[in-house]
Order: sequence, then structure tokens, then C-alpha cells
Amino acid sequence: MTSTAAPATTTAPAPVTVIGLGPMGSAMAGAFLDRGHAVTVWNRTASRADALVERGARLAGTVEEALSAAGLIVLSLTDYDAMYAVLGGADPAALRGRVLVNLTSDTPDRAREAAAWAAERGAVQLTGGVLTPPSGIGDPASTTLYSGPREAFDAHRATLEALTAADHRGEEPGLAALLYQLNMVMFWTALSGYWQALALAGAHGLTASDLRPLALEALDLRKFVEFYTPRLDAGDHRGDVDRIAMGLASAEHVVHTVAAAGIDTALPEAVAALFRRAVEAGHGADSATRLVEVLGKPAA
Ligand code: NDP
Repeated sequence: MTSTAAPATTTAPAPVTVIGLGPMGSAMAGAFLDRGHAVTVWNRTASRADALVERGARLAGTVEEALSAAGLIVLSLTDYDAMYAVLGGADPAALRGRVLVNLTSDTPDRAREAAAWAAERGAVQLTGGVLTPPSGIGDPASTTLYSGPREAFDAHRATLEALTAADHRGEEPGLAALLYQLNMVMFWTALSGYWQALALAGAHGLTASDLRPLALEALDLRKFVEFYTPRLDAGDHRGDVDRIAMGLASAEHVVHTVAAAGIDTALPEAVAALFRRAVEAGHGADSATRLVEVLGKPAA
């Protein structure tokens, strides 16, 4: 029997270098190894590479050696200062022609500066914002947002998908960093509410397990996002379902409850102060969506 189907083509996994072996970089190097990539690693503290070397990674002796080992260089460092500390000391020739996938988090401005810094040295930066903890690396249900040259992204997309789903959002190098920071604003602020509730629960002898059902309900804010999105886009701040004056009274009840428990009130006081500013600006009868406007300028 003959077949007209084209023979299957197999492309060997491309070699990858991972620089920075904190929890995130280590998980990433591990995910590349799992997919059969030749992985070269470098870390300031070389001993962090031990487990990866046992699994087949190659530990580069120098940063230049790490850069020379692959066309795709994944950077997972604490911040961009660490990136300059590592790459700034290397022979610039080793950077030429490299695609630096910078999964280090920092500000959008710093991501733009770093893209220009890389370009001056003949390298291309793809900025990435990883939307998962290390435990989600290697899971296609996790996502990383990328920005930077589309051509470089397309060339390395298949490799990057060893880490998470790869979502290219645009060419502007600061964009992925901005989207990452938007994510973190919501993440840290919402999670701080959870920590605060745990402290209050603990002051009343309740455990994390006791709080769990209520926390799962309270932290699921999707219905609020869905409800407010069209109103926000339409500039509709009518106080038909919620009013800022009511929000202030509620926020003050939280402050009083927290104070009565003898625990730190700084966080609920900051929330109450936000509502108070809105009321003082004459928005007491408006919806809480008006707080976006209040937050849109510096507090007096
Ligand atoms: P860590 O801060 O734990 O790891 C940082 C790495 O940076 C280590 O390899 C460390 O080297 C290196 N480093 C720090 N400063 C310097 C320096 N001056 N010179 C050389 N190397 C340096 O971070 P994570 O692994 O947790 O995360 C990496 C990046 O990923 C961060 O930008 C983080 O914001 C981001 N991220 C992390 C998430 C997480 O849940 N962990 C989630 C999403 C994003 P050494 O081992 O020698 O100290």
C-alpha cells in the first residue's frame, strides 16, 4: 500500500541557555530538559546548578560560555540590575546575534532600556511576564506574556512553549512588563486582603482552614469585573447598585473590627482613606467605579 502523506519531519529541540537559577530559572531549565533540549546554565552561585547538572544540564564556567552555547538565552534574575551585573561584565561579542528572552520582572521603562541596551550590542530582547509561580512552569495551562520583535518570537515560540503557553502581545518591549505589573497590582493587593483577613481570623481563634470557604468566595472577583467593565468603558458611574458613601461606612466598619482585634490597621485604614477622599471630592452618591478616577491622580 502506498501513502501520499508527506513524511513526518522532526526538528531536534533547539539548544537553550538559562541564566539565573532561582526557583523560577531552575524550574525553567528543568522544563527544557524534560522536553529534550540541550540546556546550558549559568548562575552566580554555581552550586544552585547541581540538581540540573545531575539531570543533564551543562554548567557554563563563564557568562560568555553560556551565551555562546545557544541562540536563545533565557534570563531569570531578580531584577534588571542583576541582568546588567551579569551581562554587563561579559565580552559584548558574546551577545551578538543572541535572542535574550528576559523573564526577569521589573518596570516597563527598565524593560525598554534593556531592549535598547541589547540592540546596541547586536542582540534582540523579548520581554516576558510570567503569570505563574515556578510550580506552573512546564504546564501549558500557564501563560507567559511576551512583547518585542514578532519575528524573534515566532522563531522561538515552539521552544518557549516548553515553559508555558506563549502569548505575544505586541512589539513594544515595555508592553509585557506593563501587563505583568498590572497583574501584580491586582495580585498583591488582593492577596494582602487575604493576609489581613487571616490575621483578623487568627485574632479570633479561626484558622486558615476555617476561613477557606469564605476566602474562596470573597476572592473570586470575576462577577464584579464582568459587571463593571461595560460601565467603566461607558463612563457610567451611577450609584444604582453601590454608592461610595456606603463603601466608606463599610470600610470604616472594617477598620473598627480590625482595631478591636488589636492587630495592624494600616491596610484597612488606607482603603477607608481612599473612600473618604472620594466622598470629600463630592462622589459620595456615585458607584465605587469613581475610585478609579480618584486613584488616577496623586493623593494630596
Ligand atoms: P530569585 O530572586 O529567587 O532568583 C534570582 C536569581 O537572580 C538567582 O539566580 C540569583 O543568583 C540571581 N541574582 C540576583 N541578583 C544578582 C546579581 N546581582 N548578580 C548575579 N545574579 C543575581 O527569583 P525567582 O527565581 O523567584 O524569580 C526570577 C524572576 O522571575 C524575578 O524577576 C521574579 O520577579 C520573576 N517571577 C517570579 C515568580 C515566582 O513565583 N518566583 C513568578 C513570576 C515571575 P544567586 O543564586 O547567586 O543568588
